[in-house]
Amino acid sequence: MAFRCLGLKPALVEGVTAMGYTEPTPVQGQAIPHALEGRDIVGRAQTGTGKTAAFVLPTLQRISCSNGIKALIVTPTRELAVQIEEVARGCARFTNHKVAAVFGGAPYLQQQRRVRGGVDMLVATPGRLLDMMRRNDLRLSEIEVFILDEADRMLDMGFLPDIKRIIQALPKKRQNLLFSATMTPGVLSVIAGTLDNPVSIEIGHRSVPVEAIEQSVYPVNGLQKSDLLIELLRWNNLHRVLVFTRTKRRADRLCRTLTRSGIGATTIHSDRSQAQRQAALAGFKAGRHRVLVATDIVARGIDVDAISHVINYDIPTSPEDYLHRIGRTARASARGTAISFLTTEEVTDFRAIETFIGQTLICKDIPGFAYATRYVPSPSRVARVAVAPRLAYDGGARRSTKRRTKRR
Ligand code: AMP
Repeated sequence: MAFRCLGLKPALVEGVTAMGYTEPTPVQGQAIPHALEGRDIVGRAQTGTGKTAAFVLPTLQRISCSNGIKALIVTPTRELAVQIEEVARGCARFTNHKVAAVFGGAPYLQQQRRVRGGVDMLVATPGRLLDMMRRNDLRLSEIEVFILDEADRMLDMGFLPDIKRIIQALPKKRQNLLFSATMTPGVLSVIAGTLDNPVSIEIGHRSVPVEAIEQSVYPVNGLQKSDLLIELLRWNNLHRVLVFTRTKRRADRLCRTLTRSGIGATTIHSDRSQAQRQAALAGFKAGRHRVLVATDIVARGIDVDAISHVINYDIPTSPEDYLHRIGRTARASARGTAISFLTTEEVTDFRAIETFIGQTLICKDIPGFAYATRYVPSPSRVARVAVAPRLAYDGGARRSTKRRTKRR
């Protein structure tokens, strides 16, 4: 596929060609035709996919060259603003459009002069943009296309109030293009109210809407995590289970414990050879191992359909990792289940995850499990729900009951 087949005018095709782009990247191929039609777009794509040209090219085609800023690109950092400005300049090289970037940490007067000199496409970080609006150095009343880049990072950096203020200053009738590496209800809520029947575009791993995944939390004493897992594995609906641990050593240790309990388990992490990893994955895919114990880094690359449950044996320290992990389930089927074990030490990380996904998760207990009474996090704001095993399943767990009892 060539750029000219996407409906771009010759001057823009000339621009990208001069930048050395020979053919569109997947995000460009998907986004450009819709954006040229004037549709709103919600795109899940990371930096490195070519998303900048994907929003810059159709925008340059749609906006006129007349007095007043017609396109606004808001991005969280100065570095990104500079990068976007460069790409936009390159794309606009054979057109008459003027592009400028404004961002904090650089002299105000210089940027003021640039903006006053006339700009068609403005790239901005939220703080400096609001500053210039307050000083009446720029007006957003003629914006035709509004682009919000790296929306998830904006939220992480606390820009939500700024973005809301910026959106309020925009004309109601406009085209919106939203890009984010992760798409959470929180991200969508930034702009959702103003989107008009947006086209969704996804590049990279298929993301599963968080709503399709039943998420729950099991508070537990850290020393009882393996016992609790073995107890859960007595349920027969946990047929293909991906378990995440914080470290490789913990993955190995857990895998040994499960195997000793008669549960088919294998492990995958970066200390294992390529051959070992492939064998583990093949065994898990073929159903020879019911449980795959993994660490985050290696698990990112694996793509296994029909994982019934993802278990966070250890809570991830980054909310993004939580989303990556739970997104491994519900891929082939419509629904999946994610379970997180929560110890007192992990409560802070867990609260950050709840904030990130914009949900409060339900805490559950397994009746009959001999919970230690100390060092268990207090219930969350939602009352705990006692869950009964659907069916007693002897995944080898019962054979180990005696041993576990003795250990306790
Ligand atoms: P981005 O994801 O927009 O930050 O782009 C990542 C890198 O890919 C940048 O260095 C771009 O210049 C480059 N790039 C974007 N689109 C293309 C393309 N169609 N062909 C080759 N390189 C590209």
